Amino acid sequence: MGLAEDLRRLLGADGVSTAADDLLRHGNGFSYHNPVAPAAVVRPKDKEEVRAVLRLAAAGRIPVVPFGAGSSIEGQVIPVQGGISLDLGRMNAILEVRPQDFMVRAQPGVRRLELNARLREDGLFFPIDPGADASLGGMTGTNASGTSALRYGMMRQHVLALEVALPDGRLIRTGSMSFKTSAGYNLTQLMVGSEGTLGVFTEVTLRVYPLPPVIVAARATFSSLDAAANTAIALMQSGAVVGRCELVDPPTIDAVNAYEGTGWPVQPTLFFEFSGRASAVAEDVGTAEALARGHGCLSFERESDPAARDRLWAARHHASLALAAAHPGKGMLSTDVCVPLSVLPAALAQARAAMDRHGIEGSVLGHVGDGNYHAGFMVDHRDAAEVEVAEQVHQEIVDFALGHGGTCTGEHGVGIGKRRFLAQEHGDTLALMASIKSVFDPAGIMNPGKLF
Ligand SMILES: Cc1cc2nc3c(=O)[nH]c(=O)nc-3n(C[C@H](O)[C@H](O)[C@H](O)COP(=O)(O)OP(=O)(O)OC[C@H]3O[C@@H](n4cnc5c(N)ncnc54)[C@H](O)[C@@H]3O)c2cc1C
Repeated sequence: MGLAEDLRRLLGADGVSTAADDLLRHGNGFSYHNPVAPAAVVRPKDKEEVRAVLRLAAAGRIPVVPFGAGSSIEGQVIPVQGGISLDLGRMNAILEVRPQDFMVRAQPGVRRLELNARLREDGLFFPIDPGADASLGGMTGTNASGTSALRYGMMRQHVLALEVALPDGRLIRTGSMSFKTSAGYNLTQLMVGSEGTLGVFTEVTLRVYPLPPVIVAARATFSSLDAAANTAIALMQSGAVVGRCELVDPPTIDAVNAYEGTGWPVQPTLFFEFSGRASAVAEDVGTAEALARGHGCLSFERESDPAARDRLWAARHHASLALAAAHPGKGMLSTDVCVPLSVLPAALAQARAAMDRHGIEGSVLGHVGDGNYHAGFMVDHRDAAEVEVAEQVHQEIVDFALGHGGTCTGEHGVGIGKRRFLAQEHGDTLALMASIKSVFDPAGIMNPGKLF
């Protein structure tokens, strides 16, 4: 009670909540991990309030967990040691759009769809698209990417500068408005993907792009996962400019059909998107179709009308929601390994075999154009035996990826769920990462229990 009262003195009554439903929402990420409620949810309205909260927390050694939209899926926002959930949702102003510089400055609580709606007025867009309507602060926190990473990269390639409130209340600025820099250690890049363990972003400066004149979506179905994956690889090798290339396996299509009442063919399916000038797009779609047919595809459709494009992609976009709807009361475990492209067909087969061997029903889908894919299945966090089997499957998939030059997480981040893989992936350099953390956060108040 004392903490909430102290916080109310700093932020006023409307900036602090201890309502049970609020605590529950902020203690329960979008995942299968055990929920843990914070002592209070704090909603600062500006950076000065963020700094004041951090000073109070540092003085009392109280954990602080930054919270954006809460859509991260490895338990990143769960306050495992209690304390304050610092919800940045009220800091949601788009501060400046600079069309000639292809740049935008925004507060961390801005959601990606809202940003794109504003950028459209200037003929621009921001390409990073995790499936959820995430916040810019959270996307920076996890180094998010999504279906468009194949062409545009991750948050890391788009965050040019940050304003960060450090755990002792100091405010620093990293980076600049230039696209390139060689000026010393790159603290901006260190902050991207730090999962709330180093400081609180109070402003982000992002790179944006002109809207492409033509967008074409396409979908191809195959009789085997191998044929689909090999088509994706051949397309990358062809030199075509591919915006997105996603694979969805038959059980997932089946779940989407049940969820949406659709009748998509229950086959391994590749989803593509191509964008740019009309002639170049037409050539690239033609290349994709020729390659798919060369790999024995069963069907190939294309659409350029925006509504038809959305319908064509629906089975991919709604895959996670469909899986969740088929298993009410459970949380999702979504593996997130990324492997070199040549390993991909074997990796997909290994993931499916691992699930089958352990009797797990789930999906295999992902951003196969860049070697990042997800084996997804639902887990009841209250059932210890079920969690153990799920974690065993996860371990086998990660072992395969690390054994073939990959990483345990291509985009979702570490949180609680992948902590156990970090030593396996990084070896001695993990201790160096921990030393860096202690420079920024000597008292260890920032999102404790994550990453390390
Ligand atoms: C259906 C679905 C599909 C998804 N698909 C993808 C996908 O394709 N690709 C992908 O990358 N992710 C995906 N995700 C995961 C999720 O959307 C991303 O991890 C996203 O980046 C989280 O953003 P958020 O605003 O929800 O952040 P949160 O979950 O609120 O926070 C994420 C992390 O960032 C930290 N953080 C938040 N705000 C700040 C701040 N201001 N300063 C410092 N740290 C901060 C938090 O402490 C936490 O560690 C998906 C999630 C769902 C539910």
